[in-house]
Amino acid sequence: MERQSDTDARQVDVVVVGAGQAGLSAAYHLRRTGFEPGRDFVVLDHAPRPGGAWQFRWPSLTYAKVHGMHSLPGMELTGADPARPSSQVVGEYFSAYEEAFDLRVRRPVDVRKVREAGDGRLLVESSDGVWTTRSLINATGTWDRPFWPRYPGQETFRGRQLHTAQYPGPDAFAGKRVVVVGGGASGTQHLLEIAPHAAETTWVTRRPPVFREGPFDEERGRAAVALVEERVRQGLTPLSVVSVTGLAVNDTIRAARADGTLDRLPMFDRVTPTGVAWDDGRDIAADVILWATGFRPALDHLAPLRLRGAGGGIRMEGTRTALDPRVHLVGYGPSASTIGASRAGRAAVHDIRRRLARDPAPVPAPTAAETPVTAVA
Ligand SMILES: Cc1cc2nc3c(=O)[nH]c(=O)nc-3n(C[C@H](O)[C@H](O)[C@H](O)COP(=O)(O)OP(=O)(O)OC[C@H]3O[C@@H](n4cnc5c(N)ncnc54)[C@H](O)[C@@H]3O)c2cc1C
Repeated sequence: MERQSDTDARQVDVVVVGAGQAGLSAAYHLRRTGFEPGRDFVVLDHAPRPGGAWQFRWPSLTYAKVHGMHSLPGMELTGADPARPSSQVVGEYFSAYEEAFDLRVRRPVDVRKVREAGDGRLLVESSDGVWTTRSLINATGTWDRPFWPRYPGQETFRGRQLHTAQYPGPDAFAGKRVVVVGGGASGTQHLLEIAPHAAETTWVTRRPPVFREGPFDEERGRAAVALVEERVRQGLTPLSVVSVTGLAVNDTIRAARADGTLDRLPMFDRVTPTGVAWDDGRDIAADVILWATGFRPALDHLAPLRLRGAGGGIRMEGTRTALDPRVHLVGYGPSASTIGASRAGRAAVHDIRRRLARDPAPVPAPTAAETPVTAVA
């Protein structure tokens, strides 16, 4: 049972925001180390069902097309039918997981603001009321913040523009001339799916894509993670995973490179009412522009804590924010993968247990004098 304070805020030791891979891993480790759900911690998620962001991914993203889904701690995901949509496979797996470990995720609960409670605790304001907490594990992923770059003339386009977050599957593009923007895994997957249906596809990317032959072994994985880790340690914005790892080549990609589906053009300079155009005089007519331009961390609700520094990112020490030791970001930066998110959940709980044991009294908020970088957000 949650304890009620004078202000009607329920008091817990840890609030976990988000029940995707990262949030569930954290909840599992809290539970395993003696934290009681409801009494000591709560998990809040604004999605309607279990599954994290996976529940929103397009039906043609079958489990076979997923690049290595790492299991959650304590329960393997085995025997999934590779032909089924990953949204269903992962949704069912997460649902069974929440039940097996009695994690009692509250949904749909939208966390709107996290701010100082004034007594060293944090105040978590949500669509389901207020909690005060000694620690916050933020596991809100990126799906809720699709990134749309701006190009001149974009608003004049008479066709359809959509983002990966709204991608409905390839049938919607039958007979259309489609421009796909973005050199990541989503962009290439969209192209491979759409090309057989569309009248024409064009691929544009800011930088030439880097195709990576050979297995993505542990050493390469570690090197990629270390690179992103170093960036967030310095308070820079995290890089996308593909910008670090490159695009893995398999037989399908090899064939698409050979037949021209993955011939890439540099980024256009503007959008016109009927397509896209380059300053050198080239233009391409299009019915649809599909922006596969990625996502940004969904952290708006943390803005009152002013965690962002001059580098535009949040300076991190492991999973903990450098400016506020009460706040952990899991599934962020170097841990933005299913394997990273699982590990980060454990690391955050380990750190919180140490801190709560060491500081039985509430930890005061950092003062301006202790703030090593300029807070801009
Ligand atoms: C198209 C696509 C394909 C991918 N494929 C792979 C892959 O094959 N292998 C792999 O390892 N990784 C893959 N990734 C990355 C992987 O999905 C993530 O790194 C990992 O699953 C994210 O887990 P998460 O818990 O951090 O976030 P999410 O799964 O996004 O979960 C975040 C949760 O937080 C909730 N939430 C957000 N904001 C709030 C709020 N304010 N209040 C309450 N709840 C909130 C959301 O409802 C959601 O349930 C892919 C990513 C994308 C976009």
